[in-house]
Amino acid sequence: MAELSLQHIDKIYDNNVQAVFDFNIDVKDGELIVLVGPSGCGKSTTLRMVAGLEDISNGKLFLDGRDITQTPAKDRDMAMVFQNYALYGHMTIYENMAFSLTLRKEDPNVIHKKVLAAAEILGLTSQLNKKPSQLSGGQRQRVAMGRSIVRNPKVFLFDEPLSNLDAKLRGATRREILLLHKRLSATMLYVTHDQTEALTLADRIVCMSMGHVQQIGTPLELYDSPNNLFVAGFIGLPPMNFFDVTFEDGKLKGKGFEVSLSDEEKYTLSDYNRQEITLGVRPEDIVEGGTLHVKVFSNENLGMNTLVHGHMGANGENRISAKLRGWTDYKNGDEAMVSFKRKHFFDKQTTNSIRKGER
Ligand code: ADP
Repeated sequence: MAELSLQHIDKIYDNNVQAVFDFNIDVKDGELIVLVGPSGCGKSTTLRMVAGLEDISNGKLFLDGRDITQTPAKDRDMAMVFQNYALYGHMTIYENMAFSLTLRKEDPNVIHKKVLAAAEILGLTSQLNKKPSQLSGGQRQRVAMGRSIVRNPKVFLFDEPLSNLDAKLRGATRREILLLHKRLSATMLYVTHDQTEALTLADRIVCMSMGHVQQIGTPLELYDSPNNLFVAGFIGLPPMNFFDVTFEDGKLKGKGFEVSLSDEEKYTLSDYNRQEITLGVRPEDIVEGGTLHVKVFSNENLGMNTLVHGHMGANGENRISAKLRGWTDYKNGDEAMVSFKRKHFFDKQTTNSIRKGER
């Protein structure tokens, strides 16, 4: 069992920089939580406070109901995997994995069993006598994970573990972490700036910006119903398109274009009559056919889809990116006719999502 509860946690560094504001989450046993956000948003600080590597300025941290806010890192029963692996170069892979147990003076037979079991899980059995320098980046990252597994900690903490790997290895190692999570059913906190990692790995995502939690939810919740403009723009690749529009006469009127609305959409916007709002449309929710003119300036074929960039509006006032189905061959200057399959609406002042009956 490992339930983690972060309650009203703030971090104010000595130089008076507040890096984290009122962070709250109850992490369930066996859950994989991904903290995601741009560089400097406070993800690592949060993880390091959980690990006990940074003091918690305000608030409380509980592990299985026990207050561990003041507990030293070494007594928290957590293991952290860093992006730079931090392996000992002069030791073999076996010795690296056994190190923390050797330090704890565990029975060598027990150590041997644990190291072999972890090596088996991670596919490192044939590498145990090698030195870290003889291994690939991906294998070294697995050794770093193996070192955590042998300790059988209550909570695994990952700080950007894949960022030193090339794109192909990142994908493969990501799948390994997912398998590892399933196999160990362990509670995990995982920090990344990469929204793809968050979407593919997380049971729940915590999306942060400038020290504030913007939304906590399943990957689908964040993708499908983002709380605000920030989450909408951060989750999803290529990012959501945004347009300034006014809700008028049951339509959205933008700069040089108009979009008609369904009855349901009009109902959602009923409190915003004649007001300016932000319209958000994901590139994959734009389809060929319709009344919107796009003047294309680039056509990138990806195989299954084509990424088309252009300008929309009578005078090309709006930048737009569309991920169209199949193979299209627009040339620079061609006109594409499109429509929006799905729309998101945001309040101009608060930047919050406009949802039915929520104002
Ligand atoms: P992230 O992991 O999301 O990139 P961090 O948690 O590392 O962000 O940093 C959050 C903010 O706290 C940043 O503004 C950073 O400059 C600041 N910060 C991080 N570490 C320290 C420190 N030791 N002293 C002062 N400010 C820090």
